[in-house]
Amino acid sequence: MKFFCSVTPAGRSKYFLISLLFFWINQSSAQSRYPKDYLLFPIMPGQVNYLSGNMGELRPNHFHAGLDIKTQGREGLSVYASADGYVSRIKISWGGYGNALYITHPNGLVTVYGHLKSFNKAIGAFVRSQQYAQKTFEIELLPDSTLLRVKRGDVVGLSGNTGGSGGPHLHYEVRDLQENVLNPEYFGFKEIKDKVSPVIDRIALVALNSEARVRGEFGRTELVPVKAGTNEYTVNQPVSVWGKVGLEMLTSDLSSGTSNRNGISGIEVKLDGQVVFAHRLETFSFDVSRSINVHVNYAQYLRSKNRFQRCYVADGNELNTYKTDRNRGAFVIRDEAVHKAEVTVYDAYQNETRLRFSVKGVPPTAPATVVQAGSSSAPFRFDVQENTLVLKRTPAQQGNQPALLYVKGRPVPAGMAYQRGKDAVYLWDIRRGLPDSVSLAQTTPATSFNLRAVVPAGRRFLYEEDSLNILFDERSLFDTLYLQTDREGSKYRIGRADVPLREAISVRLRPNIPEGSRPKTAVYMVSGGRLSYAGGMWVGSEIEFRTKEFGTYTLAYDNDPPFAKLEVNTPSRVVCRISDNLSGIGRIDAWLNGQWLLMQYDYKTNLIWSDPLDPKQPLKGDFVLEVTDKAGNIKKLEVRL
Ligand SMILES: [Zn+2]
Repeated sequence: MKFFCSVTPAGRSKYFLISLLFFWINQSSAQSRYPKDYLLFPIMPGQVNYLSGNMGELRPNHFHAGLDIKTQGREGLSVYASADGYVSRIKISWGGYGNALYITHPNGLVTVYGHLKSFNKAIGAFVRSQQYAQKTFEIELLPDSTLLRVKRGDVVGLSGNTGGSGGPHLHYEVRDLQENVLNPEYFGFKEIKDKVSPVIDRIALVALNSEARVRGEFGRTELVPVKAGTNEYTVNQPVSVWGKVGLEMLTSDLSSGTSNRNGISGIEVKLDGQVVFAHRLETFSFDVSRSINVHVNYAQYLRSKNRFQRCYVADGNELNTYKTDRNRGAFVIRDEAVHKAEVTVYDAYQNETRLRFSVKGVPPTAPATVVQAGSSSAPFRFDVQENTLVLKRTPAQQGNQPALLYVKGRPVPAGMAYQRGKDAVYLWDIRRGLPDSVSLAQTTPATSFNLRAVVPAGRRFLYEEDSLNILFDERSLFDTLYLQTDREGSKYRIGRADVPLREAISVRLRPNIPEGSRPKTAVYMVSGGRLSYAGGMWVGSEIEFRTKEFGTYTLAYDNDPPFAKLEVNTPSRVVCRISDNLSGIGRIDAWLNGQWLLMQYDYKTNLIWSDPLDPKQPLKGDFVLEVTDKAGNIKKLEVRL
């Protein structure tokens, strides 16, 4: 803009006014989004509190949406309403947030309190009356703004460990009216102190296409940075790279007074002084939280349980928390110079940690031309990484004989890319064609791949074969999929477990199951020798199920009813222990003298306990308990109390 080029005195003052205006707009929008001193800290306000989890922390299939506030290792601490408002939602579930309360405030903010042990008297009475009216423990209620009004500082419940909670704590969230979660740490709570900077445990560099190399290989190299001062790290030697290379960071945040490793708030990467990637997780919507599976290296997470955060934006990533250059954060190195990288990792309290390292461009060298004498029957091993098919074989002798890939039956030669240890490595960009097998020469036996189809992302796609079909929705995939399937007896391998799905796929299996056993036969995921229930609906002789995970699936017949045993029986309390050996608990119902009786359930302890509508009435008479598993087997317990 011309205005900024010729700065006259008048122009300068105009510029000054305009920047002041921008400053004011930014400040006031930040203030309306994060009003300071508006929210009361919900646990032990005014005292120092500690977090066992913060917002943005990397969790299975989602970014953690709020704070996990420690509750002195126990349940029953008072939980306070953060501001005036009304209870707008109550959700009670076996898993998830357990007993959860949502309060809507007049400025549009919503605060969420999860894993509660109990609600206050008024809320508790309302919930129980609704549970009895609907004869269900799991319930979702949306009271209107007049029903349950609260004042800032009211005790709304007691902290607990209900639902999918691994220990007593309060899960606390702040959302806006559009259901975006906001980082509670930006609301100026003095209860949390953090003067400790994030730590960087490891970094990785990964080749992003078949032309790229890291230390001479198409692959991934992990490095352990060394301390180079307070909050400073370095990597001593330059790393040799070529082409399009991605950086990954294994990093977490520490805070004062606790050893918990929490999530960082942001990463910024500079290459040769230019910002190429920035990520700041301040707010996000639940719809895009599964993008975490492409924000991190998902395959590496499954292998090592370490969540390396990518410092480049992978295909299909819907988070809007990034700012990048035109290479979407990837390093593209095509000269033989040394390039300096600088990574800054920070938390929500402006504590920063910096890493400096360098990469050096080293172009790939063609393997020496040695003609291999004789043929070798060494088989090919294969792997698919993004769009690249990686083939390895250990020949009897050194040599660089090309491999023959069969694409739709037509042999296409693929030269050896490089030698690694004893292995000859061949690389094939699958976008050039999907091969079905490979051999060393037309005279040698071929190794077949189980690469069945190229499935595009963003479109409905039906894949069909004899024993199964898979329907992909528009949103099922993050990225183009080179679908691998296999069948081994009753086990169906559907895709690769280390490829993440964004949304569910529908799978239809055609197993040979006699009609009579079908109702109690369901689909189970096989992982680590364990079966986990995946559901399934029979449509004639076919069973259809939906899943958000690729992997190995099988069918199993569950004819065993759940286990149920009376543990405690007093006039004020009935406690039973329940469990199921295969499909899992599906439904719990109890009656006292023919009247439905609410039973609370904690799946972590396998206990259910009575919660009568009128706690003053002694539990006397005929008690009937029915526990149903997901296959429909019912265990009935009848006791005279
Ligand atoms: Zn939580």
